[in-house]
Amino acid sequence: MNDSSNQVGLGTTYIHAGSEPDPSTGAIMTPIYQTSTFVQEAPGVNKGFEYARSQNPTRKALEEAYAQIEHGKFGLAFSSGVAATDAVIKLLSPGDQVIAASDMYGGTYRLFTKIFAKYGIVFTYVDTTDITNIQNAITPNTKLIWIETPTNPLMNITDIAAVAVIAKASGALLCVDNTFASPYLQNPLTLGADIVMHSATKYLGGHSDLIQGCLMMNDAKLREELFFIQKSCGAVPGPMDCFLVLRGIKTLHVRMQRHCENGEKIAHFLRNHPKVERVYWCGFEDHHNYAIAKKQMRGFGGMMSFTLKDDSIENATRVLSSTKLFSLAESLGGVESLINHPASMTHASIPRAERIKNGLSDSLIRLSVGIEDVADLIADLNQAIG
Ligand SMILES: *Cc1c(COP(=O)(O)O)cnc(C)c1O
Repeated sequence: MNDSSNQVGLGTTYIHAGSEPDPSTGAIMTPIYQTSTFVQEAPGVNKGFEYARSQNPTRKALEEAYAQIEHGKFGLAFSSGVAATDAVIKLLSPGDQVIAASDMYGGTYRLFTKIFAKYGIVFTYVDTTDITNIQNAITPNTKLIWIETPTNPLMNITDIAAVAVIAKASGALLCVDNTFASPYLQNPLTLGADIVMHSATKYLGGHSDLIQGCLMMNDAKLREELFFIQKSCGAVPGPMDCFLVLRGIKTLHVRMQRHCENGEKIAHFLRNHPKVERVYWCGFEDHHNYAIAKKQMRGFGGMMSFTLKDDSIENATRVLSSTKLFSLAESLGGVESLINHPASMTHASIPRAERIKNGLSDSLIRLSVGIEDVADLIADLNQAIG
């Protein structure tokens, strides 16, 4: 099924990508090759597998699927999303500069500032929704531009194709964290990015039952460098988790269609609710970068945030504790709906003044809209908001 992504629809690609019947039994699903090593016929004579940190057949099938779902040539699987990010930064050397989005996943910010800054990598944070900020931050040492679009939790949008032009002109790599959109809604490699990163924990796995990350790319040399880091540093996922993500990807299009439908209905319900102040969702025509979202995304997904007219932590806490279908939890992208309070949960480490300045108010509530019946989800939010 090589290159099927170029000839067939997204759903056909998701179901067949990486899957070949098992050569020894004909099993239609790639087995979970739960093994650490592979027997060799003579020293160096083997079937392409030696030791499972370097290669595993279940992981190989998944990595082939990763490549195809992002319309890339290569995919690499890591033990978590942050492990995939970690591998990208390990391409760099002390003194190299990274331009990164000021509004991005907190764990990425923590990895950059608390771990890699002390090894001499220089991070410059800018508001990437206006690409002139990126242009102005470029120096001769800029080796990587790291963006996330849409962002968590304010759903800000950055123009991937425009940033790719800046990256190319300055000789820097562009890596896009595509977790929120999923490959179903947006494909950064086709827009000129060099590397796509996902937390497969979210929409790719899709069932809130594993932690995994991945990288996709087109350049063979870049793939070799990242594969070398993957096997040298060893943050590889086990075969069981690879099997679960392979299974998850097969229903990505069906799940995403429903996430989008439910998301749109809930975004409009919230916007019309008298106790809701503002809804952050990139599918509204008055979203400040709507034109870019429409250009680079095939739909707007099920992630959104909203604030209450009574903007107090107490009022937000009341709503957060009153939902019955939406579970109060971190993470996103699973079949079940989740509700989250960034000010006290995912973004609690950011000082309040800084948080408010970035538009992240005390009452901001984030939703990961699942694929339950939307009427039940709306009824649940309605009784919780009161
Ligand atoms: C969850 C997440 C990550 C980190 O992924 P893990 O699988 O939790 O390590 C990175 N980026 C975004 C946007 C995320 O939502």
